[in-house]
Amino acid sequence: MPRKMQAAVVVAFGKPLLLEELSVPAVGPGQILVRTETCGVCHTDVHAQDGDWPSKPHLPFIPGHEAIGLVAAVGAGVTVVREGDRVGVPWLHSACGHCEYCLSAWETVCPAATYSGYSVNGGFAEYVLADPNYVAHIPDGLSPEEAAPVICAGITTYKGIKETEARPGEWLAVSGCGGLGHMGIQYAKAMGLHVAAIDVDDAKLAHATRLGADLVINAKKENPAAVLKRETGGGAHGVLITAASLSAFKEGVEMTRKRGTCVLVGLPPGEFPLPLFDVVANCITVRGSFVGTRQDMAECLAFAAEGKVKADVELQPLSAINDVMTRLARDEVPSRVVLQFGSAGAELAAKHAAAAAEPAEEPEPKRTSKPVARKPRAPAGAGR
Ligand code: NAD
Ligand code: ZN
Ligand code: ZN
Repeated sequence: MPRKMQAAVVVAFGKPLLLEELSVPAVGPGQILVRTETCGVCHTDVHAQDGDWPSKPHLPFIPGHEAIGLVAAVGAGVTVVREGDRVGVPWLHSACGHCEYCLSAWETVCPAATYSGYSVNGGFAEYVLADPNYVAHIPDGLSPEEAAPVICAGITTYKGIKETEARPGEWLAVSGCGGLGHMGIQYAKAMGLHVAAIDVDDAKLAHATRLGADLVINAKKENPAAVLKRETGGGAHGVLITAASLSAFKEGVEMTRKRGTCVLVGLPPGEFPLPLFDVVANCITVRGSFVGTRQDMAECLAFAAEGKVKADVELQPLSAINDVMTRLARDEVPSRVVLQFGSAGAELAAKHAAAAAEPAEEPEPKRTSKPVARKPRAPAGAGR
C-alpha cells in the first residue's frame, strides 16, 4: 500500500482545485479504503467548489461522489465487503441507520447523513474512505468507467422518475439533458415511458433523440410548456427537472399535466416562483427528490448491468480536473466526464501532456476525448 496519493482539493470557494500529494488515509474500525479506478464529475461538484448552497462544505475538501474502485483495506469489524470487491462510493456516504427516516428506508434524508465529496472527502483522489454499509456493489460485467455515472446521475434520475409516479405509456418530460438528463432519458425509455427532452443546447437535444427521446424542445427557441401541451394533449404526467438553471423550474411546473407530478432534482442556488393558482386548480404535485436509497442503487445498477442504460463517458485524467470543472459550469460537457485513475489514467495524462506540447500549427492530434475550451470561468451561479 503506497503512503502517498494524488488528490484534487478545493482550498477556497470559486477557485481552481489544487492537485496535491496527500497521505493515503488510514482505515479506521468499521471503515474501508477504496483504491479509486474512476470517478464521474457531477455538476454538484461545481456547486461544492463554488460553495453556492446554503450549507457549505468545510475547507479544504476533496470533491467527487461517483467513485468506483476496488476495496484495498478493510477496518476492524467489517464483514459486508472484502478486499478486492468492486464498490462505488456515492453521495450518501453514511447515515445513522436508526432514525425514523433510516428505519423507513429513507436514509437519504437522515439528519445524521454524511455526503461524499462534500461533508467528507470524496473520489477525486487515488484512495477514498467509505462506509461499507453504504457503498454501491458494482455488478460483474459493468466496467468502472460505465458504472461511475450510474451511482449519482443514474440513481438520481431513476429515483426521480419513480417519484413522478408516471406509468408505462405515459409522458415524462426530462428538463436538462446533461449528465443526469442523458441517463434519465434512458431509464424512462427502459421503464416504458414516452419521453420529451428539454434543453437549451441543440447538440444535447440531438443526443437526446439518439437516446430514444420521442420529442425534443429547445427552451431557448420555443415555449416548452406550450409545445409539450400541444404534442401530448395536455402536458407531461411526470416532469423531472435536472437543469442547474432556475428558469427550467418555473417552466417544468408549467409543463406538468393536470394531476401530474413535477419532481425537482436540479440544485441551482436560489428560489423560483410557483404559480399558485395553476398548481392548486390543476392538482399538481411539486416534489423534491434527493439521490436514492441503497435499494434504488441496486435497481439502477441492474438496469446498467443488463445494458438497458449506458452512460456516455468522456475519459479524462485527474490532472485535467480544472478544465473539466470550467466546461461543466459552462454547460459545455456533452454528457459525463469520468476521471480515470491508475495506469490508464497515467497514460491519458501523458497523452494530454504530449498533445499540449505540440506546436499550435500542427494538425489536431487524435484524442481520446474532446479538446478543452479554455474560456474564463463564469462567476458562481451566473447563467445556471
Ligand atoms: P450538467 O451540467 O451535466 O447538465 C445540466 C443540463 O442542463 C445541461 O445539458 C444544460 O445544457 C441544461 N440546461 C441549462 N439550462 C437549462 C434550461 N434553462 N432548460 C433546460 N435545460 C437547461 O449537470 P448534472 O451533473 O446533470 O447536474 C444537474 C443538477 O442536478 C445540478 O444542479 C446538480 O447539483 C443536481 N443534482 C442533484 C441531485 C439530487 O439528488 N437531487 C443529484 C445529482 C445532481
Ligand atoms: Zn452528483
Ligand atoms: Zn438516520
